Amino acid sequence: MSLETMQELLIHQLKDIYSAEQMLLKALPKMQEKASTEELATAFGAHLVETKNQVARLDQALKILGEQPGGVKCKAMEGLIAEAQEILDEDGNETVIDAGIIAAAQRVEHYEIAGYGCARTFARRVGRNDVANLLQETLDEEGNADKILTDIAETWVNAQAARA
Ligand code: ZN
Ligand code: FE
Ligand code: FE
Ligand code: FE
Repeated sequence: MSLETMQELLIHQLKDIYSAEQMLLKALPKMQEKASTEELATAFGAHLVETKNQVARLDQALKILGEQPGGVKCKAMEGLIAEAQEILDEDGNETVIDAGIIAAAQRVEHYEIAGYGCARTFARRVGRNDVANLLQETLDEEGNADKILTDIAETWVNAQAARA
C-alpha cells in the first residue's frame, strides 16, 4: 500500500488497531478464566466490556474517514497474545501465574497506548478532532486498564507470588 498522506497513514494505523482489538476480544476471556485472583479476573471482565466499546469507536472513526475495517493484520498483537498464551498454558503456583498474566497484559496495554496515542496525534494533525476525541477516549481507558493492573499486582499478587 502506498502512503502519500498522513490521513492514509492514520487509516492504516486505525485498521491495525482494529485488528489488534479483535484479537483481544478473544484473548481477554481466556485471561479472565485463567486468573486465580478474583480482582484480576474482574479487571479482565471489565476491560472486555471496554474493548467492545473501543471496537465500536474504531468503526465510527473509520466511517468518519470514509473507510471500513479490514486488510491489515496486527502482527505485533498476534505475537503479544502468543506470549500471553504461553503463560496461560502453564501449570504451577496460581499467584505466580497471575503475576505472569499481569506482565503479559501490561505489554498489551502499553502497545495499545502507543498505537492510540500516535493515531490520536495524527488525527489532530489532519484536522480531524472528531476522530481524535474518539481515540482519546479509548486512550484514557487503556491507561486506566494499565494502572489497574499495576494496582492489582502491587496490592494482591506480587507479594504473595514472591512467597511461593
Ligand atoms: Zn500495520
Ligand atoms: Fe483496547
Ligand atoms: Fe499493530
Ligand atoms: Fe486494552
